[in-house]
Amino acid sequence: MKLFTIGPTEMYETTKKIREKGVPYFRNQEFSNLMLETDEMLKRCMKTAVTSETIYLTASGTAAMEAAVDNLIRKGDKVLVVEGGGFGKRFVEICDRKHIDRDVLHLELDETLTMAHFEPFQGNAYKAVLVNLHETSTGQLYNVDLLKAFCQGKETLLIVDAISTFLCDPFAMDENGIDVVIISSQKGLCVTPGMSMVVMNQRVADNYLKTPDEMECYYHSFADYISNMKRGQTPYTPAVGICYEIHDMLKYIEAQGLEQRLDEVREKAETFRCAVKMEGIRFPEFPASNAITTVIFDRPVAKKIEAALIEEYGFVINPCGGSVAEERFRVSHVGAITVEDTLELAKGIQKLYQRYA
Ligand SMILES: *Cc1c(COP(=O)(O)O)cnc(C)c1O
Repeated sequence: MKLFTIGPTEMYETTKKIREKGVPYFRNQEFSNLMLETDEMLKRCMKTAVTSETIYLTASGTAAMEAAVDNLIRKGDKVLVVEGGGFGKRFVEICDRKHIDRDVLHLELDETLTMAHFEPFQGNAYKAVLVNLHETSTGQLYNVDLLKAFCQGKETLLIVDAISTFLCDPFAMDENGIDVVIISSQKGLCVTPGMSMVVMNQRVADNYLKTPDEMECYYHSFADYISNMKRGQTPYTPAVGICYEIHDMLKYIEAQGLEQRLDEVREKAETFRCAVKMEGIRFPEFPASNAITTVIFDRPVAKKIEAALIEEYGFVINPCGGSVAEERFRVSHVGAITVEDTLELAKGIQKLYQRYA
């Protein structure tokens, strides 16, 4: 089996070696050093100041989305959610569950986010904008400059779920005016699912973060994570093995060079898009992340092709949900897959399309 999915993604050999070593004890200096080194590398890759704070949560990305809201949004605050697909909808549902006053910037299927979409919301005093920079359910990569422009000069925090764009597309937290970033272990980092990180700049940590007493949820109180991280520890037992995997992967990426890494993902994405395109196969017109390609067929063949790819090639792709499930699926370009693998997949999809169309 080869995973053309995000995520988990196809894992690198270096990660598999780390996994073989097993899980050591962690309340010691060795683990603290590992975490502090991880944090330095993570901030470099994210292009944020060393004074930013990172929360290392043992949880999947959704918990980190929820925790960010829990720690930063207070009663009476109003937020704006960019809802352009399944993950945007999740932010809306998180707000609704907590009775947080929210406006929704809704995008129709395949609609590109533009400045005009923000017009109706300009006059409102929002505490935060919640957005999934790469809406993984559709493949659209939003223009971060639009979000930055909307939040700039207001007291509005830009809270970005960058889970499937960080380490896949160019990303610069500070320069892009992002206050809070949410990422997960199983996407661009390509390691085991189970850890999620929330990075916030110093302004947010100092001025906006709830104290533990203000928090209803005990486990997700960021202030406790920040004070523990000063010595390279987490307040509760983390997924220790995944912490080792993340450290190893960041070292791997830094040795390769971040720009080279991003070029590699982009090359796979461009190669795939070029090779798979034919009469009857197209892509959405909005700007796409390099992390995935959404493939649109002119007939309801997506499920059949997906099944045959597994059966005949051992290739696993991401299905699309909802009303478009029969006409679309998504292919990831992240992880230990080569340009050759990518070409083989593209040819396979074309062959199967011709069989089923
Ligand atoms: C994968 C992903 C998440 C997290 O999903 P989990 O299943 O909770 O890990 C959140 N946001 C985006 C944009 C994602 O791609």
